[in-house]
Amino acid sequence: MDLCQRATASCGACCGLYNHREHGRAAIRAELGRRTRALRGVARTPEAFRAAAGALAAGGPAPLFPSVRVCPLLGFLDEAGTRVGCLAHPRATGGPDLRDCGVYDAKICETFFCPSFAFLTEEEAALAEVATGDLHLYGLVVTDVPFLRACLAAVAAGTGARVERRHLERASFRTALRRLLALKEELAPGSDGLFGAFAPGPDGGDVPRRIDYASIGRETSPHDAILTCAGADPRSGNDLDRLEGEVRRRLDACVASFAGPA
Ligand code: SF4
Ligand code: SF4
Repeated sequence: MDLCQRATASCGACCGLYNHREHGRAAIRAELGRRTRALRGVARTPEAFRAAAGALAAGGPAPLFPSVRVCPLLGFLDEAGTRVGCLAHPRATGGPDLRDCGVYDAKICETFFCPSFAFLTEEEAALAEVATGDLHLYGLVVTDVPFLRACLAAVAAGTGARVERRHLERASFRTALRRLLALKEELAPGSDGLFGAFAPGPDGGDVPRRIDYASIGRETSPHDAILTCAGADPRSGNDLDRLEGEVRRRLDACVASFAGPA
């Protein structure tokens, strides 16, 4: 299974794609475009690439999490800017492997697999690919297994049927599912829900996220699984009531289009 470069989707999350204070679609596209243009004319040598990477990093936007690396060699792989990937990879350079010039080294880049590889099935990956439809949303969703699963489970609970790849051939359902998954793009900056479900605790283990309903005088939401993944709590800066309403509306649309006409 490949999650990074699929037929119609690509991801650059672990190279720092979203680690910018301004991580909306337009800002991320602008930064990828800046790097791609700058690297286009650079000689395919370690010296030239290292110098270019340094200049790009110095002129890049501020990171959201300074301790998490942002590689300036991540850019657009195609002219149309539909695919994100490594511009130092031999397939992009046309020969030399220049990944040692990035923020890690070629060996790490070649062998790293994010936790989603261990958890996602090929079918779930295909659903994320087809439902999201672009590099910005795909990377946010494919790196958050609990969120994707919570969304698919909620749709299945509403329709009484497991979501399968063939259901996405119905354009109206595909659009509705995309809207549900696009909650990931609409969260407050710095939200727990923005960057995947793995929050390390003091011992390095995963800390499950939880919405403290009692502290805000509320009953547990029927959409708790999605809301928890999205970081819909006051601590994350998101408005729980507003997000809950959005989840309900978008889920209803999924259920209605699942059974309705294409
Ligand atoms: S975050 Fe995972 S899916 Fe995305 S590029 Fe990295 S390894 Fe691939
Ligand atoms: S050099 Fe490594 S970290 Fe940088 S973009 Fe390429 S794969 Fe990602």
